[in-house]
Amino acid sequence: MEVHNVELQISAVQPEQYPDQGYPEIAMVGRSNVGKSSLTNVLINRKSYARTSSQPGKTQTLNFYRVEDQVFFVDVPGYGYAKVSQKEREKWGQMIETYLTTRKPLKGVISLIDARHEPTEDDVSMYQYLSYYKIPVLVVATKSDKIARGKWNKQESIIKKKLGFNQRDQFQMFSAQTKSGKEEIWKWIEDRMGD
Ligand code: GDP
Repeated sequence: MEVHNVELQISAVQPEQYPDQGYPEIAMVGRSNVGKSSLTNVLINRKSYARTSSQPGKTQTLNFYRVEDQVFFVDVPGYGYAKVSQKEREKWGQMIETYLTTRKPLKGVISLIDARHEPTEDDVSMYQYLSYYKIPVLVVATKSDKIARGKWNKQESIIKKKLGFNQRDQFQMFSAQTKSGKEEIWKWIEDRMGD
Protein backbone atom coordinates (compact mmCIF):
# COMPACT_ATOMS: atom_id res chain seq x y z
CA MET A 1 0.00 0.00 0.00
CA GLU A 2 1.25 3.49 -0.87
CA VAL A 3 0.73 5.39 2.38
CA HIS A 4 0.21 9.14 2.40
CA ASN A 5 -2.25 9.64 5.18
CA VAL A 6 -1.84 8.51 8.78
CA GLU A 7 -3.53 9.83 11.90
CA LEU A 8 -3.35 8.78 15.50
CA GLN A 9 -7.08 8.31 15.94
CA ILE A 10 -7.12 7.54 19.64
CA SER A 11 -5.11 6.26 22.57
CA ALA A 12 -7.56 3.89 24.18
CA VAL A 13 -7.74 1.88 27.36
CA GLN A 14 -11.40 0.85 27.53
CA PRO A 15 -13.36 -0.90 24.74
CA GLU A 16 -15.80 2.07 24.66
CA GLN A 17 -12.89 4.15 23.35
CA TYR A 18 -12.00 1.84 20.46
CA PRO A 19 -12.73 3.37 17.04
CA ASP A 20 -16.03 2.56 15.37
CA GLN A 21 -15.31 3.04 11.65
CA GLY A 22 -15.18 -0.71 11.22
CA TYR A 23 -11.83 -0.77 9.41
CA PRO A 24 -9.77 -3.93 9.84
CA GLU A 25 -7.13 -3.78 12.55
CA ILE A 26 -3.60 -5.15 12.71
CA ALA A 27 -2.02 -5.11 16.17
CA MET A 28 1.70 -4.97 16.86
CA VAL A 29 3.11 -6.55 19.98
CA GLY A 30 6.62 -6.98 21.33
CA ARG A 31 9.04 -6.36 24.12
CA SER A 32 10.00 -2.73 24.78
CA ASN A 33 12.86 -1.66 22.52
CA VAL A 34 12.35 -4.52 20.05
CA GLY A 35 11.81 -2.02 17.21
CA LYS A 36 8.02 -1.66 17.08
CA SER A 37 7.95 2.09 16.46
CA SER A 38 10.69 1.73 13.86
CA LEU A 39 8.74 -0.95 11.98
CA THR A 40 5.57 1.17 12.04
CA ASN A 41 7.46 4.19 10.72
CA VAL A 42 8.93 2.17 7.84
CA LEU A 43 5.51 0.74 6.94
CA ILE A 44 3.96 4.22 6.77
CA ASN A 45 6.98 5.90 5.16
CA ARG A 46 7.61 8.31 8.01
CA LYS A 47 10.80 9.13 9.84
CA SER A 48 9.32 9.56 13.29
CA TYR A 49 5.58 9.33 13.36
CA ALA A 50 5.12 6.54 15.81
CA ARG A 51 6.88 7.45 19.02
CA THR A 52 10.26 5.81 19.46
CA SER A 53 10.49 4.79 23.03
CA SER A 54 12.57 7.11 25.15
CA GLN A 55 10.67 5.77 28.13
CA PRO A 56 10.09 2.08 27.51
CA GLY A 57 6.97 0.72 29.10
CA LYS A 58 5.52 4.13 29.91
CA THR A 59 2.64 4.26 27.45
CA GLN A 60 -0.03 1.99 28.83
CA THR A 61 -2.58 2.69 26.12
CA LEU A 62 -3.55 1.05 22.86
CA ASN A 63 -2.68 3.53 20.13
CA PHE A 64 -4.90 3.28 17.06
CA TYR A 65 -3.22 4.69 13.95
CA ARG A 66 -5.63 5.16 11.07
CA VAL A 67 -3.82 4.41 7.81
CA GLU A 68 -5.33 5.69 4.52
CA ASP A 69 -8.89 5.31 5.85
CA GLN A 70 -8.45 1.59 5.23
CA VAL A 71 -6.82 -0.05 8.22
CA PHE A 72 -5.85 0.63 11.83
CA PHE A 73 -2.41 -0.23 13.13
CA VAL A 74 -2.82 -0.85 16.83
CA ASP A 75 0.30 -0.22 18.82
CA VAL A 76 0.17 -2.40 21.91
CA PRO A 77 2.45 -1.15 24.70
CA GLY A 78 5.68 -3.10 25.03
CA TYR A 79 5.96 -5.89 27.57
CA GLY A 80 8.88 -7.14 29.63
CA TYR A 81 9.95 -3.84 31.06
CA ALA A 82 11.36 -4.64 34.50
CA LYS A 83 10.62 -1.32 36.21
CA VAL A 84 6.86 -1.61 35.78
CA SER A 85 5.08 -2.45 39.05
CA GLN A 86 3.03 -5.61 39.54
CA LYS A 87 -0.14 -3.51 39.56
CA GLU A 88 0.77 -1.81 36.28
CA ARG A 89 1.55 -5.20 34.81
CA GLU A 90 -1.88 -6.53 35.77
CA LYS A 91 -3.60 -3.48 34.31
CA TRP A 92 -1.60 -3.93 31.11
CA GLY A 93 -2.52 -7.62 30.98
CA GLN A 94 -6.22 -6.93 31.35
CA MET A 95 -6.25 -4.23 28.70
CA ILE A 96 -4.42 -6.42 26.18
CA GLU A 97 -6.49 -9.48 26.96
CA THR A 98 -9.76 -7.62 26.51
CA TYR A 99 -8.59 -6.20 23.22
CA LEU A 100 -7.10 -9.38 21.76
CA THR A 101 -9.89 -11.72 22.77
CA THR A 102 -12.97 -9.59 22.07
CA ARG A 103 -12.11 -7.25 19.23
CA LYS A 104 -14.01 -8.21 16.07
CA PRO A 105 -12.10 -6.03 13.52
CA LEU A 106 -8.77 -7.50 14.67
CA LYS A 107 -7.49 -9.46 11.65
CA GLY A 108 -4.03 -10.39 12.80
CA VAL A 109 -1.12 -9.63 15.07
CA ILE A 110 2.45 -8.79 14.15
CA SER A 111 4.62 -10.23 16.91
CA LEU A 112 8.07 -8.67 16.98
CA ILE A 113 11.10 -10.65 18.14
CA ASP A 114 14.73 -9.50 18.17
CA ALA A 115 16.39 -11.43 15.33
CA ARG A 116 19.69 -11.71 17.20
CA HIS A 117 18.49 -13.58 20.26
CA GLU A 118 16.44 -16.53 21.35
CA PRO A 119 12.90 -15.33 22.18
CA THR A 120 12.40 -14.39 25.85
CA GLU A 121 9.86 -16.14 28.08
CA ASP A 122 7.57 -13.13 27.59
CA ASP A 123 7.88 -13.51 23.80
CA VAL A 124 6.96 -17.18 24.06
CA SER A 125 3.99 -16.49 26.38
CA MET A 126 2.65 -13.85 24.02
CA TYR A 127 2.98 -16.08 20.98
CA GLN A 128 1.39 -19.06 22.74
CA TYR A 129 -1.45 -16.84 23.92
CA LEU A 130 -2.17 -15.64 20.37
CA SER A 131 -2.00 -19.22 19.09
CA TYR A 132 -4.42 -20.39 21.77
CA TYR A 133 -6.97 -17.83 20.58
CA LYS A 134 -6.24 -18.77 16.96
CA ILE A 135 -5.33 -15.20 16.05
CA PRO A 136 -3.28 -15.16 12.82
CA VAL A 137 0.29 -14.10 13.59
CA LEU A 138 3.15 -12.74 11.53
CA VAL A 139 6.36 -13.14 13.51
CA VAL A 140 8.72 -10.34 12.49
CA ALA A 141 12.35 -10.76 13.48
CA THR A 142 13.69 -7.22 13.87
CA LYS A 143 17.15 -5.68 13.47
CA SER A 144 18.16 -8.30 10.90
CA ASP A 145 20.86 -5.89 9.67
CA LYS A 146 22.74 -6.74 12.86
CA ILE A 147 23.27 -10.36 11.85
CA ALA A 148 24.98 -11.73 8.77
CA ARG A 149 22.68 -12.92 6.02
CA GLY A 150 24.32 -16.34 6.18
CA LYS A 151 22.92 -16.73 9.71
CA TRP A 152 19.33 -15.75 8.94
CA ASN A 153 18.10 -19.29 8.37
CA LYS A 154 19.69 -20.56 11.55
CA GLN A 155 18.22 -17.69 13.60
CA GLU A 156 14.83 -18.30 12.04
CA SER A 157 14.99 -21.96 13.13
CA ILE A 158 16.06 -21.03 16.67
CA ILE A 159 13.23 -18.50 17.00
CA LYS A 160 10.58 -20.82 15.57
CA LYS A 161 11.66 -23.71 17.76
CA LYS A 162 11.60 -21.69 20.97
CA LEU A 163 8.19 -20.16 20.15
CA GLY A 164 6.64 -23.50 19.24
CA PHE A 165 5.90 -21.94 15.86
CA ASN A 166 2.68 -22.96 14.21
CA GLN A 167 2.84 -23.68 10.48
CA ARG A 168 -0.33 -21.70 9.80
CA ASP A 169 1.52 -18.53 10.85
CA GLN A 170 4.20 -16.66 8.93
CA PHE A 171 7.72 -15.49 9.65
CA GLN A 172 9.62 -12.53 8.21
CA MET A 173 13.09 -11.10 8.78
CA PHE A 174 13.04 -7.30 8.89
CA SER A 175 15.39 -4.34 9.17
CA ALA A 176 14.22 -0.78 9.73
CA GLN A 177 17.62 0.32 8.58
CA THR A 178 17.69 -1.39 5.15
CA LYS A 179 13.86 -1.78 4.94
CA SER A 180 14.39 -5.39 3.92
CA GLY A 181 11.16 -7.32 4.53
CA LYS A 182 8.89 -4.28 4.22
CA GLU A 183 7.07 -5.46 1.08
CA GLU A 184 6.48 -8.94 2.49
CA ILE A 185 5.02 -7.48 5.69
CA TRP A 186 2.70 -5.20 3.71
CA LYS A 187 1.61 -8.20 1.63
CA TRP A 188 0.69 -10.10 4.78
CA ILE A 189 -1.23 -7.07 6.13
CA GLU A 190 -3.15 -6.64 2.88
CA ASP A 191 -3.98 -10.34 2.79
CA ARG A 192 -5.30 -10.13 6.34
CA MET A 193 -7.31 -6.96 5.55
CA GLY A 194 -9.20 -8.83 2.88
CA ASP A 195 -10.24 -11.68 5.20
P1 GDP B 1 10.13 0.05 20.41
O1 GDP B 1 10.36 0.34 21.87
O2 GDP B 1 9.79 -1.38 20.22
O3 GDP B 1 9.17 0.98 19.75
O4 GDP B 1 11.57 0.20 19.69
P2 GDP B 1 12.15 1.37 18.76
O5 GDP B 1 11.56 1.32 17.42
O6 GDP B 1 12.08 2.63 19.51
O7 GDP B 1 13.66 0.87 18.61
C1 GDP B 1 14.50 0.67 19.73
C2 GDP B 1 15.95 0.90 19.34
O8 GDP B 1 16.35 -0.07 18.36
C3 GDP B 1 16.19 2.26 18.67
O9 GDP B 1 17.45 2.72 19.08
C4 GDP B 1 16.17 1.96 17.19
O10 GDP B 1 16.94 2.85 16.44
C5 GDP B 1 16.77 0.56 17.16
N1 GDP B 1 16.26 -0.22 16.02
C6 GDP B 1 14.98 -0.49 15.73
N2 GDP B 1 14.86 -1.23 14.61
C7 GDP B 1 16.12 -1.43 14.15
C8 GDP B 1 16.68 -2.12 13.02
O11 GDP B 1 15.98 -2.74 12.20
N3 GDP B 1 18.04 -2.13 12.91
C9 GDP B 1 18.84 -1.51 13.81
N4 GDP B 1 20.16 -1.58 13.60
N5 GDP B 1 18.36 -0.84 14.88
C10 GDP B 1 17.02 -0.79 15.05
